[in-house]
Amino acid sequence: MKIIGLTGGIGSGKSTVLELFAALGATTYVADLEAKKLMNSDEELKSQIKKLFGVNAYVNGELNRIYIASIVFGNEEKLNALNALVHPKVREDFQHYIKETNADFVIYETAILFESGSDKFCDYIITVLSGFEDKISRIMKRDKTSREQILERMKHQSTDDLNIKNSDFVIRNNNFEDTKNQVLTIFELINALENK
Ligand code: ADP
Repeated sequence: MKIIGLTGGIGSGKSTVLELFAALGATTYVADLEAKKLMNSDEELKSQIKKLFGVNAYVNGELNRIYIASIVFGNEEKLNALNALVHPKVREDFQHYIKETNADFVIYETAILFESGSDKFCDYIITVLSGFEDKISRIMKRDKTSREQILERMKHQSTDDLNIKNSDFVIRNNNFEDTKNQVLTIFELINALENK
């Protein structure tokens, strides 16, 4: 089974693109979503997070996202420490997932493909790109958040230049219809490569 990494900055349109691939029949795995689930279900991970952030990290067994966000916001050291706990667990979960899945390829979506080192297990990498102001206005609308908070989150993500340099395919997500066509072209290309 081939693994296709799908990445791009916050608000670039990764989830939108992933849905388009899924609609074409692709098998998909959303790493950031699975990470959130694991932080609430994996007992070993939960205890490691409590060690790092204290008992307030969980309320009634559920991750206290607001508390964690208030600590990691602007604190790169803590954010990196959290990521270092979560990513090995996600990778392990993904390995289980692909063992149980019967598909020619699976698309692995994450905002931090290169930062987490997950690029190393990908056979192909796709980067989604959108204009800077488009990303900001889309995220402000989607997450009801401030420009300042978005800029802070963007600071921790690799640049478009780096993503492009390390990708096999780039999707420019400006006009939705164009995006759909790009997804179809890449989907067909990957299928053709797989069936060679
Ligand atoms: P990401 O997963 O990269 O953070 P999303 O796919 O969630 O980004 O897109 C961010 C927001 O922008 C969503 O609300 C989505 O519906 C919207 N969006 C995505 N692509 C487009 C597009 N081409 N035109 C208009 N809105 C879009």
